[in-house]
Amino acid sequence: MTETIIDYEPIADLLIDVFGEYKFHNEHSGQIGFSCPVCSYDIKGLDHLDGKGNLEVNYKLGVYKCWSCAETHGTHGVLYYLVKKYGSSRHLKNFVTLMPEGTGEIQKKHYKKVILPKDFISFPRASAGMKMTPIYKVPFNYLKHRNVNMDMMTKFNIGFCYEGEYKNRIIIPSYDEEGRLNYFTGRSWEKNPFLKYKNPEAEKQTIIFNEYLIDWEKPISLVEGPFDSIFVENSIPMLGKKLSDHLFAILYEKAKKIIIILDGDAWKNALKIYDQLNGGRLFGKIWISKLPEDKDIAELCGDLTNYPPYQID
Ligand SMILES: [Zn+2]
Repeated sequence: MTETIIDYEPIADLLIDVFGEYKFHNEHSGQIGFSCPVCSYDIKGLDHLDGKGNLEVNYKLGVYKCWSCAETHGTHGVLYYLVKKYGSSRHLKNFVTLMPEGTGEIQKKHYKKVILPKDFISFPRASAGMKMTPIYKVPFNYLKHRNVNMDMMTKFNIGFCYEGEYKNRIIIPSYDEEGRLNYFTGRSWEKNPFLKYKNPEAEKQTIIFNEYLIDWEKPISLVEGPFDSIFVENSIPMLGKKLSDHLFAILYEKAKKIIIILDGDAWKNALKIYDQLNGGRLFGKIWISKLPEDKDIAELCGDLTNYPPYQID
């Protein structure tokens, strides 16, 4: 690991410019105490700052919190948003330039441990009696229609909910390297659902979906969603069309060969990811597949015979 020396002084000066005189400043920890603008203007209705110094800002971590009004007024979080609210556009622009990349982007939020919905029924583990009922047959036939068979349901422990918070949704769980549940997606099987996907609150940015199934020695395919990954051997769903910083870092460290396969309508995203990955250690190890605009992997059942992966010079 290399350590970059960052000059924090201009950042501290910028913050003083935005929030006025400070009450204390610890340069080592990066902690500064200002008078809280929310307490002063919004709560007390003053036309000047209250001089209390309740607002604690940490520019090294890129976060802030008011000891007086964090609970009642939500005055805590990522520093960027506070500068955006109280500074000028010039302040914000300078702030972004000065702050080291990545600082404060992910809010230090404590997520609850992910557990499967209490109404979750695993297809392979459903009782014989249950398998006779429409409650089971409707979601089962939905998956069959999407070319998902019992072997796949077993491999991924796919299930469904017919009541509760995830009612009428197919559940695909994700397990970490050690096989512990870390996420799941809930996709509606209704025709026009209010929400197509309902997923638990979790630090999605730091999850490698079903990491325990990945063999890093073999080519890794990058796909959009968990439904795609069912059909493609050794694939990682990005849970979207963009590559997270975390996934990039893991791929850079571990992958030997990567094949990018996004839906046909996301070709531009696929090219962008190709560029992001095709460098340094991974240079020349990235491949890409171009699907027709109206096709996705699930429809093709992962069969890329007509759209073989290639490299771009
Ligand atoms: Zn406050």
